[in-house]
Amino acid sequence: MENAQKIIIVVIVFYLIKPCLTQNKSYNDIHTYNCGDYNITIINNERTFNTAIIQRLINLYSSLYPKLVDRFNRNAPKSVTVRLDPTRKSSFIAVAYGNTINISTKTIRYQYRYYDILLHELMHVVQDYPATPEAKWLGEGIADYARYTYAKGNADTDWSLPDYSPTQQYNDSYGVTARFLVWLENRYNSTIIEELDVSLRTNTYTPAIWLNLTGNTVDQLWTNYSKYPILITDLSSALKMDTSYVVDR
Ligand SMILES: [Zn+2]
Repeated sequence: MENAQKIIIVVIVFYLIKPCLTQNKSYNDIHTYNCGDYNITIINNERTFNTAIIQRLINLYSSLYPKLVDRFNRNAPKSVTVRLDPTRKSSFIAVAYGNTINISTKTIRYQYRYYDILLHELMHVVQDYPATPEAKWLGEGIADYARYTYAKGNADTDWSLPDYSPTQQYNDSYGVTARFLVWLENRYNSTIIEELDVSLRTNTYTPAIWLNLTGNTVDQLWTNYSKYPILITDLSSALKMDTSYVVDR
């Protein structure tokens, strides 16, 4: 057989089997969106994923991420990559490394309204904290504070802060710490979240920061919180029930 004929046969065979090869390749559906100085790339690795959720993620990023950057860290990345990952274990929800976020498609596929988990992860991108014990419990609390505060406009989000219970501690992290922070912001210091955030990023956090910012140690604050944990948003109904309460300062 002539070499030219061999080449033609190889090419024909390749094109016959190409659809099979393509089908076996991992799915990589890439969406990019630019919004002024900001941009987001979403890499969807699940072929059957609902594209309406991708649009929600893009909308959430473009409307809220610049607000997080403006408020907390103007040196935060202006470019974020989000991978929608179907391969991780079932306990995996989402994680941020630098300006790259991985979100489990299992989580937001079946909890459709849980898409605002992206807000929590975007706050981690803004935080850019060095790894310290406080960056873990307080950092997660601040990330859930951001999710709570900025997702309020998303009326369909299927997530809320946990109610107070006596078994909780201020360093339980996530929603427990976030609710405590909302309470502190309303009652003691309107810029306490920014102050705590900077101290974690610059690795200058010490327990004295609570005393400096509120006049109370964190243990005293938690005791006060446990006596009357109602949030200011619930205050009008709370005052009808109990007008005797005065916050200890
Ligand atoms: Zn987190």
